[in-house]
Amino acid sequence: MDNKVSVVKCFTYDKAAEGIDKAVGLLGGWDKFVKPGMRVVIKPNLVSRKKPEEAATTHPQVLCAVIEAVSRRGASVLIAESPGGAYNAAVLAGVYNGCGITQAVEGTQAKLNYDCSFTEVGFHEGKTLKSFPIINPILNADLIISLPKLKTHAMTSFTGAVKNMFGVIPGTHKAELHFRLDDRRAFCSMLVDLYCCVNRTPVLSIMDGVVGMEGNGPTSGENRELDILLAGMNAHAVDLASCYIIDYTPEEVDTVREAYERGLIPESAEELEIIGEDIRSLVVKDYKKPESHFNLLRLLSLPPSVNSWVIERFAAKPLIDYSGCVGCGECFRDCPPKAIKMVDKRPVIDEDKCIKCFCCQELCPQKTIKIKRSWFNRAMLKILR
Ligand code: SF4
Ligand code: SF4
Repeated sequence: MDNKVSVVKCFTYDKAAEGIDKAVGLLGGWDKFVKPGMRVVIKPNLVSRKKPEEAATTHPQVLCAVIEAVSRRGASVLIAESPGGAYNAAVLAGVYNGCGITQAVEGTQAKLNYDCSFTEVGFHEGKTLKSFPIINPILNADLIISLPKLKTHAMTSFTGAVKNMFGVIPGTHKAELHFRLDDRRAFCSMLVDLYCCVNRTPVLSIMDGVVGMEGNGPTSGENRELDILLAGMNAHAVDLASCYIIDYTPEEVDTVREAYERGLIPESAEELEIIGEDIRSLVVKDYKKPESHFNLLRLLSLPPSVNSWVIERFAAKPLIDYSGCVGCGECFRDCPPKAIKMVDKRPVIDEDKCIKCFCCQELCPQKTIKIKRSWFNRAMLKILR
C-alpha cells in the first residue's frame, strides 16, 4: 500500500507548473515516473462544457504544466476523457473548446483524443462489478496521469481522484451504471473496483485544489480557493488527504470508506505519509457540503432493507427551477432511469422513477436544477448540528 501523498501550496494557476513540479518532486521526481518513448495518457476532469473559471473542470494551466513536464522527458502525450452525456467526436470537440483545453494545448506536443472506441475489460477481483467498458486510449497507455478537481458531489459527497476514473467509461454506459447501481454505496463500491481495474496501469494522481468547488458540486457549486495541489500514486490516499482538508470524515465519503474497508488506505489521514505541507494546518472547517449530504442511514445505523425505505422518503431530490430552464433537454437525455419527460419543452421529473443520482443537476448547462431537502431531512440536520 503506497500511502505517500505530497501536498504543496499553489496560490495561482500562473504558478501551477512550479507547484506541480514541487509536488511530483516530493514523490521522487518526474524521471521516476516518465521515461522516454512512453505513451502517457492524461485524464483530466472535463465533466461537461464549463469555463475554467467555473472551477468544475481541471484548469488548463494545470494540464499544460503536466504536458510540458512529460514532453520534456521524451514521452508522447494524449489527453483523453469521456465527459457526461454522449461520447462522440463532436461532443469531445465542444467540451475541449468549452473547457479551454483546445486553446491550451495549441503549440504543445500533446494530442487530444477523438477515438471513441472502447473495450470490455474483465476484472475478476471486482467486488461489485467484474468487467467494465473502458475507452481504448486508457488501455493503450504506459502511464496514466489523472488530474482530478477537488470538488463536492451531490450524489457521492466528494469527487476526487477515484471518481475521476468514472470518465474512462464511454458516454451513455455511465448512465447504465447509475441505473444498475442506484444505491449510493454500491455505486461507490463500483467506483473503487473501476479505479483498481484501471490502476493495473500505473496511475499518478495530481489533484487540482488551487480553486476547488464547495456546495452543490460537481458543477453547480461555488468556487472556493484552497490554494493546494496534492499528488500520489495511490488515488485513495490522495482522496483521503483531500477529504481531511475539506473536513469530511472518511465515513462520510463512500469511496474513501470502501477503500479503507478493503485495506487500500489507513483508517485516517493522520496515518498517511504526507510530504510537504502539514495538512492539519490546511483544514477548512466551513467548507460547504452539498444539500444532499446528509446520510440518515449512517447516523441511525439502519439495516440495508430499511435504508432504501428511508432514502425513498427522506433523501434530497432534484428540483427544477423553471425560471432558468431553457428547455435544452440535456437532463431528459441523460437521466439514467428515464425519469424525466419533456412536456411543452419543459422537463418534468417522475419522482417514483428518480434514483437520486443527480446526473441531471450535474449536466444542466443552466445550473437550474437544485437539490431539495425533505422537511424531515432538514429537521434532523438542525437537531444533529
Ligand atoms: S438541462 Fe437544465 S436547462 Fe436543459 S431542459 Fe433540463 S433543466 Fe432545463
Ligand atoms: S431525475 Fe435526475 S436525479 Fe432523478 S434519476 Fe433522473 S438524472 Fe437522476
